[in-house]
Amino acid sequence: MRSVKGFDEKPFTEAHQHAPVTSVRLHPIKQPAVFNDSTPVPWCPAGRYLSERPVFTLDPLYHAGGYYVQEASSMFLDHLLRQILPGKNELRVLDLCAAPGGKSTLLASLPGEGSLLISNEVIRQRATILEENMVRWGYTNSWVSCNDPRDFARLPGYFDVIVVDAPCSGSGLFRKDSKAIDEWSEGNVVLCSQRQQRILADIWPALKEGGILVYATCSYSPQEDEHILDWLSETFEVKTMACNVPEAWGIVNVSTKRNMSGYRFFPDKVKGEGFFIAALQKTGTAAGLRLPRYRALNDKKVQEQAAYLLQDKPYVFFRTDKDMCNAILPAHETDLQLLKDTLYLRKAGLHLGAPAAKEWLPAHDVALSIERSRSIPTLELSREQALRFMKKEEMSHEGIAKGWYLVTFEGLGLGWVKSLGNRFNNYLPKHWRIRMEIPDTDWA
Ligand code: SAM
Repeated sequence: MRSVKGFDEKPFTEAHQHAPVTSVRLHPIKQPAVFNDSTPVPWCPAGRYLSERPVFTLDPLYHAGGYYVQEASSMFLDHLLRQILPGKNELRVLDLCAAPGGKSTLLASLPGEGSLLISNEVIRQRATILEENMVRWGYTNSWVSCNDPRDFARLPGYFDVIVVDAPCSGSGLFRKDSKAIDEWSEGNVVLCSQRQQRILADIWPALKEGGILVYATCSYSPQEDEHILDWLSETFEVKTMACNVPEAWGIVNVSTKRNMSGYRFFPDKVKGEGFFIAALQKTGTAAGLRLPRYRALNDKKVQEQAAYLLQDKPYVFFRTDKDMCNAILPAHETDLQLLKDTLYLRKAGLHLGAPAAKEWLPAHDVALSIERSRSIPTLELSREQALRFMKKEEMSHEGIAKGWYLVTFEGLGLGWVKSLGNRFNNYLPKHWRIRMEIPDTDWA
């Protein structure tokens, strides 16, 4: 560490005697009225520092995707991309190492009109968590895939932006996660650095000429940070992209032997954990992808049955392989036909549900979508009712007409119930259920 720029041993060691900082990022569209006594994260307008860590599981707004619990240093991606990408529309963005979804939920709302985000995670169980978090965030333009970085070689020059938040040795997380201390070794730093190079070499062909690569780790080791930037500049044609960073923020501007630059976060200098991030531009040429012409996808029957779930604007409706119907934005019709043949797509657009005997069986995803129709019948729940719903309890009632209702808490969708006249069936998917016991006081 003593050779690492910006490292001050005494304050750094002292910072590790304190508890980690708790921070959240508010959903830019759902805009929940929460955490009134919080303070803003300087580099991310939606970021908030909390004075203490609440039990998030017991907050219905967390389940409704009102906010995402994210470490504050990582939110710097917001500042970096806002400076690099302003006014750019129709971008194809890949978050390659995306689970559990911190960077992806941030990326979903950043690029302009018509943009598409592919959040990818190679480890299947982690991809499930990623998918859940992306569903909760509710964007139709955020799709989820489960592929090895190598698989993206089938998409030469396709992406305008690729974020590689690489698996690393994790020294930046020592304060937050004591397991990271036990697992750390010099040998592991070397292994991680080799793996980072492999991942970057695999993904490089998929970046467009002039495209942007964002590389990040939560390690302080130069082998995983500066050396990787130098390796990239030796191996490919790239240049670094810098942004304005006020000195008062305490972020250390790092430059490498080959004049590449990045940003390092130390917990004694910023209110956040250890982190490293850099943005690079591909200056060399990239093979292009010729998009074949595809047939129109829209399924009129699905549209007739399911369009009532969405806002009144154009969508493409289609059936997926799993007997589920989805909607995507018209700008992504060609992307869908290309990507479903090249990647393992776990979520493409928004799941709408499926036709049943005499009705439409609405998917859970619609309840959390930012694009759901405002004319769907809703039932606003109290905090106690919302937590009971999230425990998947059945609820009785009197005098509510039969049919489907979207249940909300403070106006944000939580899921679906079906009224049978005197009780509701709770359609929360089993794996979304709260498992913890809820203390009596939290029903209040
Ligand atoms: N970006 C995430 C976020 O902000 O929530 C955190 C990503 S975490 C630092 C790194 C991710 O890379 C993990 O989810 C891990 O499963 C995945 N990973 C592990 N080995 C990988 C590999 N060989 N190629 C690509 N991703 C890998």
